[in-house]
Amino acid sequence: MNTCPACGTVADQRYTIADRFQSPLVIERCASCGMELLASAEQNPNELYGEDYYTGRAEYSYRDERERVRFDRHVWNARLKEIGRFVAPPADFLDVGCAFGGFVECAGEFGYKARGLDVSEFAVRDGRARGLDLIRGELKPGVLPDSSVDVLTMIEVLEHLPDPVAAFQAMRDLVRPGGLVVIQTANFLGRQARRAGESYHYYLPGHLYYYSTHNLRLLLERFGFSRIKFFRPVEFGLLAKLKKSRGDFRKLSDYRRWWPTARYHWLSHLAWRDFAYTSSMVCYARRNRY
Ligand SMILES: [Zn+2]
Repeated sequence: MNTCPACGTVADQRYTIADRFQSPLVIERCASCGMELLASAEQNPNELYGEDYYTGRAEYSYRDERERVRFDRHVWNARLKEIGRFVAPPADFLDVGCAFGGFVECAGEFGYKARGLDVSEFAVRDGRARGLDLIRGELKPGVLPDSSVDVLTMIEVLEHLPDPVAAFQAMRDLVRPGGLVVIQTANFLGRQARRAGESYHYYLPGHLYYYSTHNLRLLLERFGFSRIKFFRPVEFGLLAKLKKSRGDFRKLSDYRRWWPTARYHWLSHLAWRDFAYTSSMVCYARRNRY
């Protein structure tokens, strides 16, 4: 059994998910703050995040980002508009887990001095060849100079990081006083995750930690962040999401999928404090000024 990185309590075994992947996933849960972790993880991130992962060929990978960039840009630009209301460009922008750097490129066009950080040699090399300022490395103290970032984004990345404490220490060091962090991950306090239990689709071999509004707030406060704001499901409107989803569509009848997407988006607004109807969340927090 492992110790919870958010609060130090020993975690109890919760699920063994045996039927969905090549090897069973053993999930543990902290009884104190609800943080869950993948106890069966044993992988080298460099092996996991190679070409197969990014091109949709690995067992549990994403689709090839590069094929859908023009659709994804709708969401990236909508997000940048919201971020700009908190920290306006020009400012130092770092996208952690940037993959090929599509979001970094948009942030640069939006007026930020944009850089990206990723563990994947394969993805970073591809982005650099397109002229982007991408750094290969892990989010841990010393990866970049202290106080060199005004906006740090981590979109569906935190759950992949093997050492949450090192990641939060690095965020504290990197982000200037008054700077902004933007974190998107699933909320395991959401009714969606709680009802689905071990069949929840977010349990994946590459997802090492599972957060919630409660324990994410604990971690952010512990590492020098405040003015924490949660958006459910996301900080931008439905239209950008619908436009992005067209990247998956192959035929006219696929537009029918807009209805469940819209329904999910609206239901996600049923959220108050740590209650949430769905499990989508985006968190904005500011670095303390002392
Ligand atoms: Zn805990």
